[in-house]
Amino acid sequence: MFGKGIISGLGVTLKRFVDTYLDDIAWWGRRYFKAEGIAHRSSKDTRGVFTVQYPEEKLPVPEEFRYVPFLVYDDLPDGEKEIRCTSCGICAKVCPPQCIWIVRTNDPQTGRPVPVPAEFYIDADICMNCGFCAEYCPFDAIIMDHDYEIASYQRNVMNLEQLLKPASYYESIRPVNYERNAAERRAKQAAKAAKAEAAA
Ligand code: SF4
Ligand code: SF4
Repeated sequence: MFGKGIISGLGVTLKRFVDTYLDDIAWWGRRYFKAEGIAHRSSKDTRGVFTVQYPEEKLPVPEEFRYVPFLVYDDLPDGEKEIRCTSCGICAKVCPPQCIWIVRTNDPQTGRPVPVPAEFYIDADICMNCGFCAEYCPFDAIIMDHDYEIASYQRNVMNLEQLLKPASYYESIRPVNYERNAAERRAKQAAKAAKAEAAA
């Protein structure tokens, strides 16, 4: 019959329309703006409307999700921040689009390099989110972020101050990676201590 496809298409739309209300009633007060509601609407069991009301609602990202990297610092017991980056420059060398710039700190007395960056820039508009910098960093100092809401009307060149985030943030977004890195760091420190003890 001519028009049968249009009628069945409208039937699908009508079914979704009705199902939305049925699911809204079944999930009263829990379907929108709640983690369990978003998870339900993303599952195969959902009915009706399943779109996410962005930006009020956001889909959770998996641990390995990669956006622009950030630099990690540790909070010391005396309240100081210890930046993990030693300004070795490996990340800048391996970065495929060359969007990392680092200025090393020099000791004003001796002129010798100090293992702390004086300046650190990442051009977020050029970064291709590949994660090479984080993979190659020997000090777990640069980590791929989950924060993808950085759009702006200006060119997005992030400086040291904007890039620095605490280790606790790293732990909150990538708990499995954080624990693996922490275990490796503990093992390295224990090996170093054992070597020093053996040499003494
Ligand atoms: S982030 Fe890592 S690889 Fe890059 S300069 Fe700092 S220590 Fe080196
Ligand atoms: S994620 Fe890739 S492109 Fe972006 S700064 Fe790191 S190495 Fe460069």
